[in-house]
Amino acid sequence: MSLVVGIDLGTTNSLIGAMDAGFPVLIADDQGERLTPSVVHFPGTGEPIVGRSASRMRSVEPAATVYSVKRFMGRRAGEQEGAVDYATAGEPGAPLRIRVPGRDLEPEEVSALILRKLKSDAERALGIAVERAVITVPAYFNDAQRQATKRAGELAGLTVERIINEPTAAALAYGLDKLGDRAKIAVFDLGGGTFDISILELNAGVFQVLATNGNTQLGGDDIDAALVAACTLPVPVWQKRDLAVQAKHRLSVEDSVEIPLPFAAGAESLVYSLTRAELEAVAVPIIQRARAHCLRALADAHLAPAELDQVILVGGQTRMPLVRKFVAELFGREPNTSQNPDEAVAIGATIQGGVLSGAVQNVVLLDVTPLSLGIETFGGLMNVIIPRNSTIPIKAGEMFTNAVSGQESMLINVLQGERELARDNWKLGEFQLPFERAPKGQARVGVQFEIDANGILHVLARDTKTGREQVVDVSSAIDVSDEAVEKMLGDSLEHAFEDVNDRIFVEAKLKADELLPMVRRALAQIGNELGFEERASIEARLSDVESAVEAGSAQPLKRANAALDEATQGLAALLIERALKASERPASA
Ligand code: ADP
Ligand code: MG
Repeated sequence: MSLVVGIDLGTTNSLIGAMDAGFPVLIADDQGERLTPSVVHFPGTGEPIVGRSASRMRSVEPAATVYSVKRFMGRRAGEQEGAVDYATAGEPGAPLRIRVPGRDLEPEEVSALILRKLKSDAERALGIAVERAVITVPAYFNDAQRQATKRAGELAGLTVERIINEPTAAALAYGLDKLGDRAKIAVFDLGGGTFDISILELNAGVFQVLATNGNTQLGGDDIDAALVAACTLPVPVWQKRDLAVQAKHRLSVEDSVEIPLPFAAGAESLVYSLTRAELEAVAVPIIQRARAHCLRALADAHLAPAELDQVILVGGQTRMPLVRKFVAELFGREPNTSQNPDEAVAIGATIQGGVLSGAVQNVVLLDVTPLSLGIETFGGLMNVIIPRNSTIPIKAGEMFTNAVSGQESMLINVLQGERELARDNWKLGEFQLPFERAPKGQARVGVQFEIDANGILHVLARDTKTGREQVVDVSSAIDVSDEAVEKMLGDSLEHAFEDVNDRIFVEAKLKADELLPMVRRALAQIGNELGFEERASIEARLSDVESAVEAGSAQPLKRANAALDEATQGLAALLIERALKASERPASA
């Protein structure tokens, strides 16, 4: 199978990786850097510039340099959070657009430029075309934001095989899929501009999100800004920010730094000096803001810190010793620091890409529906609404109609499994939806399945005429043991042939049930107008269908139906003629 790369499309930095001889490896750009700043600069003329060079243009041409575009993905104008140095546009409620001099772009177009650069860096490094990808998103991203991310990938020429949650990817990179069943994990992710805390539970090899919380306006940028504000050197702001970031990074391993600025002010040389203690004094109130979010997430997950099996660190800002100390105190344990925090998400995405391409085995599928979900329809067939292996959260629906005239309610039988016949799948629940009496095929019942981030299936059925609806929650849709899934898949393979045959038969039987009474009625009405031979041939085909139904075999019934269809062409034409004449009469009267 062909390569599937993993991509962390971050607010501040983006990364791409690929499996190499069984190991996830992040790919460096032509300057040897694995982190690509998620920044795009649009020069007056020529192609957009992406990454490090674009980042340098932020202070030079702020209106033409787009950063943090992830904040705008899938958003409508008027609902964006926080200010940026470039313009946005769009009528309130309409999709938000990014406005740079001379151009209006969708946020996904900007993200696509970042993805395109990552794709081409990978292609250069690997020497092969990169076409398929797994892309990560924050766990709290809603459907529109996930769809926008997927579209960005497609605009960049990638087939997006899966969108997975960042904390899940990170947990995979830390190897936490090897923890025991029901293991509980906190993922503490402090990046450049956003803070996310997620509580996951490992369930039969699948990571479930128990709770998420965070702040989309909290990150390393805030520390940088505080340092810039405190800097008294006579240099421009962009240079202060440069110094602050450099010093902040170095102070994660050093106790104090002195950065010389030769000839910064004319002939005079300046020095930017900062100690770790000074940095921490500035950073403490900022880091403290994460506290309430963590407590909230724990409360939502109904967990005490002691019940967690592991706490892992994600995001470049967690390299700061102060952050590690804060996490250790808050959760009452040392966080796991075995991975590079700013690379873990991309590594996890890469592993997941490897699973999808077949390069990695024995690793779980993530955040996906282990088996198909659907409802029983006419004739006892399984009608799949959410196919197996769909990434959750997910929402999908279908319209159904009544099988019988005058029916007053519809039985919604919620099923899970891969078999064609309803009775061979597992029943998750059932309920009756009442609706207004209607002739056969006229009632309209919409059935919607939604699996939320917690893996809970909400089944909603609504009579579109009366608007009457019913919702039933099923909690076991994701929570299925590995053995059970394997058995179901094995059975569906083993019975694939009979199953398909069963389905063909049921469908042919439904058709026969419709055809037989219709033809009989027509014969009774106008049969005497047919020639003897034609009538005899129709009678013969009728009894062929009846005996094929009796025999219960699929293909013969399908053929008999077709033959009856064929034999009744003349009869059908006659009926139509009659109907037309009848409708003309009142007009001519
Ligand atoms: P995002 O998820 O927002 O794309 P990252 O995970 O790449 O962001 O984190 C970027 C942030 O991490 C920036 O604020 C950066 O300054 C900070 N950072 C990166 N390396 C270090 C370090 N060694 N020490 C402290 N902060 C760091
Ligand atoms: Mg990140």
